[in-house]
Amino acid sequence: MKKNTSTYLDYQATTPLDSRVSDSMIPYYSQVFGNPHSSGHSFGWEANRAIENARLDVADLLSAGPDEIIFTSGATEANNLAILGLAHGCDRKRHKIFVSAIEHKSVLAPARHLANEGFLVELIPVDNQGGIDLNWLQDNIDEKTLLVSVMAVNNEIGTIQEISTITSICHSVGALVHIDATQAFPTMTIDTFEQDIDLLSLSAHKIYGPKGIGALYIRREYQNLIQPILWGGEQESGLRSGTLPTPLCVGFGKAASLILSDSEKDKKCIKELKIELFQKLSHQIEGLELIGPPLKNRHIGNLCLYFPGISADELIGLIQPKLAVSSGSACTSGITETSHVLSAIGLSATKSNSCLRISLGRMTTLEEIEIAAKVLISEYAKIKRLINI
Ligand code: PMP
Repeated sequence: MKKNTSTYLDYQATTPLDSRVSDSMIPYYSQVFGNPHSSGHSFGWEANRAIENARLDVADLLSAGPDEIIFTSGATEANNLAILGLAHGCDRKRHKIFVSAIEHKSVLAPARHLANEGFLVELIPVDNQGGIDLNWLQDNIDEKTLLVSVMAVNNEIGTIQEISTITSICHSVGALVHIDATQAFPTMTIDTFEQDIDLLSLSAHKIYGPKGIGALYIRREYQNLIQPILWGGEQESGLRSGTLPTPLCVGFGKAASLILSDSEKDKKCIKELKIELFQKLSHQIEGLELIGPPLKNRHIGNLCLYFPGISADELIGLIQPKLAVSSGSACTSGITETSHVLSAIGLSATKSNSCLRISLGRMTTLEEIEIAAKVLISEYAKIKRLINI
């Protein structure tokens, strides 16, 4: 296959597979091919051992126990299992569910589904940087609240939430907390014990692991409250039926262990490159604006930038095939609608439609930053010239 020579700055949509991850997976496609749930022979035992090692690595990333990790197909399934599974597994004594206004659609859609079933679902408002309104949460939460779901780090504007404060408010009335931590690493560390988290979703393809695998952490004592959304062979303690994909689990485990070993280096390099790109762009583009939290206090690789007076989709079209970035979140692209995240932080539809999400990651180089800056500056100038003719 021909190598794609475009510059990739869309790491929040997905990350490339780290070569150390792909190397770790290869033997599990052909050599260790047994069904990990075949308990009667060595083919099954070997595959099962690899999966349990991977589970330990994923658990270590969260300072959790391996018995608290349920493998899923990704964060979409983990979010659905957390929200629908808890709501359907509990009696209706608690019928309120709060999710933040800037959640991913895989949280918003199951919550909406529960609203149709009679649950009282409310959106927690956010401030102009995407921080959830803790006063609102404090004032509205009560003994009728079953679950609060908040993402650790936002996928469009990079906001980092105050997880420990949120869990302490929720636990004061006995409500459980689900954290969508898909975009959390390596920006922040997660310690499910210290931060007192009840449920947490992960996806391997956002941490240089393979697509098609993720996990839901479920605190040990709450596992009996969750009703599965997939039924069958009762794998994953009966919470998620289906044969586990050994190579994907192994890759996920390796990716998780690399987050722990490489995160300081990754953080430093990515942050420096991000600041370099922002400075280059803001020196040359009049009115360029950083949307969301300040540079130093957001997802390490995220820049959400307002390019005044142009359509972000038009700019993205013009920079093809040189540069890969996105407008709004990749999961909603294809559908032309204004980002619910940008509108929740108070941006007008017109301003939102002029915003680009640029995201850097582990493989980003200074050369790529120079190319990206050059391409964006020259193509932006071209659109502006055309508009002004
Ligand atoms: N939550 C967040 C915050 C995400 O960014 C994404 C992916 N864009 C998901 C959930 C869904 O993850 P997956 O692709 O693993 O289903």
